[in-house]
Amino acid sequence: MKIWQCTVCGYIHRGDEPPEKCPVCGVPASKFKEIDEADIPEKTPKPRKPRPAEPAQAEKGKTAPPPEPEPVVEETGLEKVKSILVKHHAHPVSVHSPNGLLPVVFLLWFGAWIFGNELLSKAAFINLIFVVLSLPIVLATGIFEWQKKYNGAMTLIFKIKITAAVLTTTSAVIGLVWYLIDPGVIHSPKAWVFILLNLVMLAAAGIAGHIGGKLVFKDL
Ligand SMILES: [Zn+2]
Repeated sequence: MKIWQCTVCGYIHRGDEPPEKCPVCGVPASKFKEIDEADIPEKTPKPRKPRPAEPAQAEKGKTAPPPEPEPVVEETGLEKVKSILVKHHAHPVSVHSPNGLLPVVFLLWFGAWIFGNELLSKAAFINLIFVVLSLPIVLATGIFEWQKKYNGAMTLIFKIKITAAVLTTTSAVIGLVWYLIDPGVIHSPKAWVFILLNLVMLAAAGIAGHIGGKLVFKDL
């Protein structure tokens, strides 16, 4: 029997052929690569070992002892909360708030810069506050979903997603703090750096969202 790993989400399949479609992320068989037992990441649950056969020398008339009950892994506390959040798509739902606001924030800063308009600058700042407030929820639910649904697989797709998430968060927080320190930044000679920072934030969020959409709609 061969071992196949989904190169997109890290799902492990055992069999002579890769599955027609990845049951986790939906990519076709061509995205599976054959790996060795030693390459299997530790976090991937292995199939249950087959029960040892009934001892052949069991005496007649004597019933075999009842099999030991399988240990039931009960999810408790935080793990249960994580599962509930993942089941109800907390990540793809919550991500709409910052992703909807980010282009607005960028356009408002850009307008404030071009037209030297203080009102646009204030509006951008208020929208950015909502972005920064929503990011912890988006990041937490994203991590839960990655752990529960994809076993925390460190494949390329998740490396890009994590990098993009870190970039988005960092640039959003820097932008917010920068404005608090210097509310006139958008009308200063450094405004172009500030605009660039916001462009990075927008682009990184766009990349994370694009890949996320592909995972959700399984059209990789
Ligand atoms: Zn997959």
